[in-house]
Amino acid sequence: YVSLKTSPPSDFSIHIREVLGGGRFGKVHKCTDTKTGLRLAAKIISSRSAREREMVLNEIEVMNQLNHSNILQLFDAFETKNQVVLVLEYVEGGELFERIVDESCPLTEVDAMVFVKQICEGVHYMHQMYVLHLDLKPENILCVNRSSHQIKIIDFGLARRYKPREKLRISFGTPEFLAPEVVNFDFVSFPTDMWTLGVVTYMLLSGLSPFLGDDDSETLNNVLTVSWYFDEETFEHVSAEAKDFISNLLIKERSGRLSAAQCLKHPWLNNISEKAKGSNIILKSQVLLRKYMARRLWKKNYIAIAAANRFKKIGSSGSLTSLGV
Ligand code: ATP
Repeated sequence: YVSLKTSPPSDFSIHIREVLGGGRFGKVHKCTDTKTGLRLAAKIISSRSAREREMVLNEIEVMNQLNHSNILQLFDAFETKNQVVLVLEYVEGGELFERIVDESCPLTEVDAMVFVKQICEGVHYMHQMYVLHLDLKPENILCVNRSSHQIKIIDFGLARRYKPREKLRISFGTPEFLAPEVVNFDFVSFPTDMWTLGVVTYMLLSGLSPFLGDDDSETLNNVLTVSWYFDEETFEHVSAEAKDFISNLLIKERSGRLSAAQCLKHPWLNNISEKAKGSNIILKSQVLLRKYMARRLWKKNYIAIAAANRFKKIGSSGSLTSLGV
């Protein structure tokens, strides 16, 4: 194999174990370093085309530049004949939203502050390093474990290095988390990540997805027209500071959104330990997030079944051309 990691050099001998999750091009496995017993994660991507290989190499290049406690660390990367393997720090706490719905006691606003502050710290660092994540959806926020509140931002598969003179346009992502400029195929930049942070914060506090419509076109239309509001009942006990924080992110005009540095200075994310001593309001988000996650799982399974059926059809007709592929 060929090592793709530039610095610092590492010397792992990994034993691949069970699957932790799957994505667009491959699977993430739990693994151990046979020499030290260290638990790691291996993202194994079968690059079928030169373009896919380019995308994986981009992910490695971006991750290679980042080293922050709220960003998943890349330890090593190598390439075999038709696979690229990323050896990553292992985090055992699962998706942040999964943890919230599983927890026996519901989330308080102070818990939400602690989580959002760390996301802001990770985003602030990556923006300082001129990296745009561009896919900061809830699935990409993992918990280090279930006993602490520490989180890590994962999945730099769509991330890009920001080049001031290059006008970057993208066309990917999950409709409900896309910023208006992405939907409009307009230029993306640091504020594009800040919009998604606004969506994630709104969801943490309420369990509702602010732009989600009955179908993708309705969702995209809601994004384009910036049609969102604070559901009165769900946000009844949410602080004015939290609402101000979100209102300063979900703004159509990119330059109007708070930057990550400004978010970290916002009153909502400050004096958290003082606020924790006061009355700690329980959020209504847990029950609604459960519904949201169940719907997401249903959608994922539906897509998987539809794909399997399509595959079966291709198999029975014996040719790919029958579906116009
Ligand atoms: P997607 O197509 O959804 O963007 P992807 O192929 O880019 O996915 P990731 O999002 O990086 O893959 O990982 C897929 C899933 O694997 C994650 O949602 C998470 O549940 C799990 N996972 C990824 N990295 C780790 C890790 N370091 N430790 C533990 N679990 C992980």
